[in-house]
Amino acid sequence: MKIELDLSRRPDAAPAVPPSLAGLSLSALKAEMEAMGVDPKKSGMRAKQLRRWIHHFGTQDFADMTDVAKELRAQLAERYILTRPEIADHQVSRDGTQKWLTRFGPGIEGESVFIPDVGKAGALCVSSQVGCTLNCTFCHTGTQKLVRNLTAQEIVAQVLIARDELGEWPTSTENRRLTNIVFMGMGEPLYNLDNVAEAIDTISDGDGIAIGRRRITVSTAGVAPKIPELGHRTNAALAISLHSTNDDLRNEIVPINRKYDLQTLFEAIRAYPDLSNSKRVTFEYVMLKGVNDTLAEARDLVRLLKGVPAKINLIPFNPWPGSPYECSDWETIEEFAEVLNRAGYASPIRTPRGRDILAACGQLRSESVKKSAAEKRREALEAGSSGQSLT
Ligand code: SAH
Repeated sequence: MKIELDLSRRPDAAPAVPPSLAGLSLSALKAEMEAMGVDPKKSGMRAKQLRRWIHHFGTQDFADMTDVAKELRAQLAERYILTRPEIADHQVSRDGTQKWLTRFGPGIEGESVFIPDVGKAGALCVSSQVGCTLNCTFCHTGTQKLVRNLTAQEIVAQVLIARDELGEWPTSTENRRLTNIVFMGMGEPLYNLDNVAEAIDTISDGDGIAIGRRRITVSTAGVAPKIPELGHRTNAALAISLHSTNDDLRNEIVPINRKYDLQTLFEAIRAYPDLSNSKRVTFEYVMLKGVNDTLAEARDLVRLLKGVPAKINLIPFNPWPGSPYECSDWETIEEFAEVLNRAGYASPIRTPRGRDILAACGQLRSESVKKSAAEKRREALEAGSSGQSLT
């Protein structure tokens, strides 16, 4: 005899929340249409209509979709929603930087940051994972264990949330405030490349959010074997978190260097497709007092970058609670920058933004923790009393 536990029948059952279509890629929308019973010959067309409403107009109500038959709209509304993940917290810095803490699921929270005056108008820094596996010693996210990869939909949702707040629907070509996307939030994008690539397809889609691939930058701490693949799959701009010019120090502060050393890293960078003076690699270099900030290291940096079309961002170290470093003195940073300037690299010091709300580079961290299978099961059982399934 088979016994099924149907928790949805409990008298105190809360209705299960239907899935959202917001942030799905065109191919995922097409698959949903087919799962709903739409004729496969028409599913592509329907997916394109949805894409336009969701990612060009930003609509959150199926009733707005005037070119979709009423009956289909009703079916859609029964099965799906168009809302974004819940915003657990939203803070605005004195300097105009905004930070969102988004709840992707129970106990799964990640941060995104909008920085005005970056790129053509403003950049959104998105997370690709909740937590991180890398343990870079100067990075706050590095103190948080990996909870999980974000899905492509969850990455795109961060852009939708920023657009909602900035009032930038429908997608316009003029006077946008959000013009650039940087994958420099929580996590290592190249350890989640499938989802990052799918998210970039959706974000850059000209009939949707329409932020061009050239305005999308993916930053990596140095997952060398994935670097050329990133270029081939996404055509995005590449950024490298370098932070040291020699293996000994880099092994210590960016531990992934023990797996892929500087030579391996630079071979991968040189294999990045289409590099030129108009498509340069950005090298990020955090200024740590007494650790990596001597003028000899500035000269080493120039030597190391020889032959690579490069820009350098010197990032004054942003402290976080309990951080073991200090930021280099301003004078030291300027002298370091001067060496780079003389070698032909222009204005490389990045002004810290949003430090007061812990929104600056490397300050992101959430309270989310990875749960054991036993904990998950216990929670699911408890949630059962409010009608959620045991999956
Ligand atoms: N894992 C990817 C994406 C994160 S990008 C990567 O490492 O590139 C975040 C950037 O901020 C990286 O360049 C990181 O090295 C830098 N960073 C981390 N902690 C910092 C801090 N406390 N102050 C300044 N920059 C920091």
